[in-house]
Amino acid sequence: MQKIRNIAIIAHVDHGKTTLVDKMLLAGKLFRDNQTTGELILDNNDLERERGITILSKNVSITYKDYKINIIDTPGHADFGGEVERVLNMADGCLLLVDAFEGPMPQTRFVLQKAIQMGLKPVVVINKVDKPNCRPDEVQEMVFDLMCNLDATEEQLDFPTIYGSAKQGWMSTDFNNPTEDITAVLDAIIEYIPEPQIHEGDAQMLITSLDYSNYVGRIAIGRVHRGEIREGMDIALCKKDGSVVKQRIKELHTFEGMGRKKVDSVKSGDICALVGIDGFEIGDT
Ligand code: GDP
Repeated sequence: MQKIRNIAIIAHVDHGKTTLVDKMLLAGKLFRDNQTTGELILDNNDLERERGITILSKNVSITYKDYKINIIDTPGHADFGGEVERVLNMADGCLLLVDAFEGPMPQTRFVLQKAIQMGLKPVVVINKVDKPNCRPDEVQEMVFDLMCNLDATEEQLDFPTIYGSAKQGWMSTDFNNPTEDITAVLDAIIEYIPEPQIHEGDAQMLITSLDYSNYVGRIAIGRVHRGEIREGMDIALCKKDGSVVKQRIKELHTFEGMGRKKVDSVKSGDICALVGIDGFEIGDT
């Protein structure tokens, strides 16, 4: 079975999140092209991409070595209080991306604090080391101090730091030693971010976000917390007001690259999209 890593990206606007995720997708695509996979379902994001506009979707996923890395976007600031916690709930670790010149910005403090409180293990990426006057060492210390201030545990403070230039397409454990690609980040993710815990039992999933398709309508997205979800399964939609509505899952998708892939079942620990559920809201189970 494929191993999974679920990682939330935390970054201040303009620090290079879109550029880095683009490079990660490219690395994943190169890797995937050498393996056989089924048809991908194109969604809005692919269309936007074809038109040359890069927009980071809510969930993307890449295949690297034996691993599937689910990359979860987080809001760049604190205006989305409740949403932040729900989104971080899907992750087992976080990738804090920081500009090597500007350093960590106050706006990302809130999201990072939540991630630290929730026990997520961080991987730090110091980006834009190609910029003149950048100060990667100083910024690394600033990140360490920030984590201390946020009461990170010793284990969390033992985070790996990767340096590089997403724009130039390289990442390295040492900024004086540029590499040819960004695999240093992917290696840090699979090495330091814990694998998701598997919970056996009746299938359970919290709806964390939603997508929309002109063909199938609203799509519920979340991480399978317990058990296994299968296509065609009868489920109970538990609403926040306490009501329970019987429903059936028409289709089940996992994330692959910028798109989604139809699958028969999804196990505890992975992130998926459910088609065929009516009347749900974010926060329902
Ligand atoms: P986001 O807002 O965090 O998604 O940031 P973007 O990925 O859109 O990047 C913001 C700007 O920084 C763009 O103009 C990028 O080209 C630039 N950028 C991203 N990564 C690097 C880098 O490693 N070095 C330099 N010099 N610029 C970068």
